[in-house]
Amino acid sequence: MNAPSSQVVRSEAHATRSTPPGGRGEEPHIIARRPPCEGPHSPVEIKGGHCAGEVLISRRRRFTKSGGVAMIPMHEADLQTRWESLLRDLFNEALHNLAVEWPDTQSVEVSYRELERWDLDFAQSLLLQPDLHLEASKQAVKQVLVDEGHGAMDPFIRIVHLPSDQTRAISHLRAEDLSQMLSIDAVTTKISGVRPRIYIATFRCSSCGHLSTVHQPNEQELIQPMLCDPIDGGCDRKARETRFSLVERDSSLINTQFIELQELPEQMRGGIQPERILCIAEQDLCGQLNPGDRVKANGVLFIRS
Ligand SMILES: [Zn+2]
Repeated sequence: MNAPSSQVVRSEAHATRSTPPGGRGEEPHIIARRPPCEGPHSPVEIKGGHCAGEVLISRRRRFTKSGGVAMIPMHEADLQTRWESLLRDLFNEALHNLAVEWPDTQSVEVSYRELERWDLDFAQSLLLQPDLHLEASKQAVKQVLVDEGHGAMDPFIRIVHLPSDQTRAISHLRAEDLSQMLSIDAVTTKISGVRPRIYIATFRCSSCGHLSTVHQPNEQELIQPMLCDPIDGGCDRKARETRFSLVERDSSLINTQFIELQELPEQMRGGIQPERILCIAEQDLCGQLNPGDRVKANGVLFIRS
């Protein structure tokens, strides 16, 4: 979900629930009208800010499933290797199609059900460490394409068909859900315009002219380098000893859209205002939805103070 994107697909997607409120059954059936090259569902990769207060930030990421199965954290280097094996085993054709259709197609959809069949522990670790997995899978898909002789592409993986016990109504989101991969059934209310945001920023050191890049995980702030790093040719001055200026043309931008999601009418308790959550759609998800669309939003829950 991190590659620069200049293509925005305009389409409409509607989902209708086929399960009772609470989302413990099968996934809702989703009716979508989309270009033929895309899948039959409309997952919105959410990065939702849960407006419940800063106290949630201090919660430690948990490595235990609700069933009490202890999870061992996986390391990023191992993860990339595992993702490369998975992609070669199961997604050769999808990767080939992506390479042919690039840049109109920029992502490969990976069903959680397939992951689970391939390696249950690996699949479960994705639910608890989605940020690590999404980054590792992005590096892996890039590497596999290079190994297959394809040129420079920067595609990414989208996870769909999450298990029903990862499905939440907005009002049921809790501190324990933070940083997990979740699926939220909701209706879109407000949708912002599509805006570029800096994903990897390039800065120039005013003392020596050296360029440094800094990954920008937070859309609300621009993180500057702490040091003009001598390891890659910088002058070793700390941030307070020099000045770093942003070099926009060498920075990596992605399309971003803010989407407000609201509880479905059937999820609301009588007389209580519907709860809402803000969702960040990135890359090829931008520009796909209209206010009033029912969606199943798959993504990582995080908080902004
Ligand atoms: Zn410098």
